[in-house]
Amino acid sequence: MNCSKHIESQAIAKCKICGAGVCKECASKTALLKSDFGVLCPDCFNKKLDLLSDFYWEDKRKRKIRMIISIITYCLGIFFILGSIISHYYDMVLAIIIGVVLCGFYTGLTWRNVAQQAHEEEELRNGPTYVITEDGIEKEDAFWMKIVFFVIGTAIGVIYTPIRIIIDAIGISKDKRYLSEFATAKIK
Ligand SMILES: [Zn+2]
Ligand SMILES: [Zn+2]
Repeated sequence: MNCSKHIESQAIAKCKICGAGVCKECASKTALLKSDFGVLCPDCFNKKLDLLSDFYWEDKRKRKIRMIISIITYCLGIFFILGSIISHYYDMVLAIIIGVVLCGFYTGLTWRNVAQQAHEEEELRNGPTYVITEDGIEKEDAFWMKIVFFVIGTAIGVIYTPIRIIIDAIGISKDKRYLSEFATAKIK
């Protein structure tokens, strides 16, 4: 079998995706993804690079948004907490609560969503439960469970948010490195 790109060259391997012949030169050009996908022909290699680039581009975008929101809300939160303590603000407790919620709300929201998901799965398995309230019969929607999860998540978020900001910053620089690596590796 010969290479699908270089008809004159002997193929040394088959493309793991389309089965086309891959010569030594093509194999060395597409070696970047070999450890993850096996030997690829130039066409499949380029397609894989495009898919991977999309993935890392999206990852970078998500991390950036989360990081920017987190930095802003965390700084605001710390400002509320420290500001009220330093200035002996008359409603210090309220200011501190607002500050804590600002610092940890992103994590709190994630935890609340976990509770929501667990509730939905429970409903799928056993059907909805109904409760009798002042307004009649209502579907149970795990209101308090979500509140409790939000509060726990928020408290954890006060400590975890700066760590997540660092993790995201590292993630963004990794994404950037992969993206530039893929851009230069693409075969024209
Ligand atoms: Zn192929
Ligand atoms: Zn070739």
